[in-house]
Amino acid sequence: TPPVRRQMERLASEGIDVVRVTYPDLIGTERARDVLLEHLPAACDHGLAFCRAVYHTSPQGDTVPVSGGLDAGMPDIRVTPDLGTLTALPWEPGVATCLGDVTDPATGLPASESPRDLLRAVLDRCREHGLRPVVGPELEYFLCDAAPDSTQGWRRYSDAEGAVYTAGLRADGDNHLLRTLRHLRGLNIGVSSGNHEFDGSQFEINLTHSDAMDAADRAFRFKAAVKELARKEGRLATFMAKPFNDAGGSGFHLHLSCLDDDGGNAFAETAAPYGLSATARHALAGVLAHAPALTALANPTVNSYKRFGPDSLAPWLIDWGLDNRSAMVRIPPERGSGTRFELRLGDASANPYLLIAGTVAAALLGVLAGAEPPAPLEGYGYDAAKAAVLPMSLPAALDELEADTALTEVLGKDFTASYLTYKRDEVARFHRHVTDWEFTEYAYHL
Ligand code: GLU
Ligand code: MG
Ligand code: MG
Repeated sequence: TPPVRRQMERLASEGIDVVRVTYPDLIGTERARDVLLEHLPAACDHGLAFCRAVYHTSPQGDTVPVSGGLDAGMPDIRVTPDLGTLTALPWEPGVATCLGDVTDPATGLPASESPRDLLRAVLDRCREHGLRPVVGPELEYFLCDAAPDSTQGWRRYSDAEGAVYTAGLRADGDNHLLRTLRHLRGLNIGVSSGNHEFDGSQFEINLTHSDAMDAADRAFRFKAAVKELARKEGRLATFMAKPFNDAGGSGFHLHLSCLDDDGGNAFAETAAPYGLSATARHALAGVLAHAPALTALANPTVNSYKRFGPDSLAPWLIDWGLDNRSAMVRIPPERGSGTRFELRLGDASANPYLLIAGTVAAALLGVLAGAEPPAPLEGYGYDAAKAAVLPMSLPAALDELEADTALTEVLGKDFTASYLTYKRDEVARFHRHVTDWEFTEYAYHL
């Protein structure tokens, strides 16, 4: 990365006068500060101050008790721009953006609740054992138009039926997808293609594969960019797992492989069972073995569990299959350099850093244990006689995470404690809240 002064001159010559420094908080929300270009060197030298807290995303509250946060008087965290990630915002002339790294000024070390540092640490562990994970993210989301008279304030942008794999105006009357793809190209986050998904107003956009940290950065920036672009049009793009009762959920599929020492695909081995190398089979076995705990990261909200279930194309059972979209892990048909898993577990609300960290940690544990996967699923994947069912609620998943000491050892004690605190508080807030469903169900007949 060139020195900050040289970067400033280049940015100024491109007409940029503001740098938006962003970082993912514990749950993957983008937090940011706009820095005037002339103050970028100071920001790089000293870091930008934010307070150490994890904020609710809902309007009913503010912060959640996370160790070292409000209980310690809300001290600072420092966010230092990572200039290697600088890129102009294609839709906001004069503004460039970059990611920041979060440190605790008391220790100078990465803050334990920083997802980017968590992934970095997990990838260091992988590297120590010769594993270099490669990830390709695929995300789905719904687009909504403002509907001030409705309860939510939003309604689906289109109710087109049978819109899956259509392009153009038939189900996307305002060419939202085309416009979004073109803006995303300018952001240089490796967006490759997009299509209309199964339900009206639901889109999928695919990102190319790259090393796991870069893929996580790109997926994080992707979600923030899509939401921002929708806002610019007066719309809402939501990555919520299951926003509507009359439509399916939104997945965050992860394509996973590993590099070998020569830069080849360590998952490929033509002569091995299923064309999967021993590393691939062990990694797969690890992901299956740790799936109950992994759901706590891959399916992080109380809403996430409404996406699971028979015939949803989201998983329900802990299983794997050869080119089988009803399984939790699909092995796409390509072999050779394209040999990979598609983990279909995660939903779009997942924090990309945590989903990827949890997945590669589970794969690493499988490799270290030399575990072998069970036989692949044949045919229909929603028959509970065939495999164990995933945790079906957030509290159940959090208990699985807490109990999986092998996985939490890789993720770190401090991170796990902060995450469980935040998420259990979320569950408690949900249980205290009276929903529309309860009123409809109970108000009249009992
Ligand atoms: N929307 C489905 C999910 O929630 C996935 C559909 C697909 O295979 O693209 O995971
Ligand atoms: Mg899809
Ligand atoms: Mg997919």
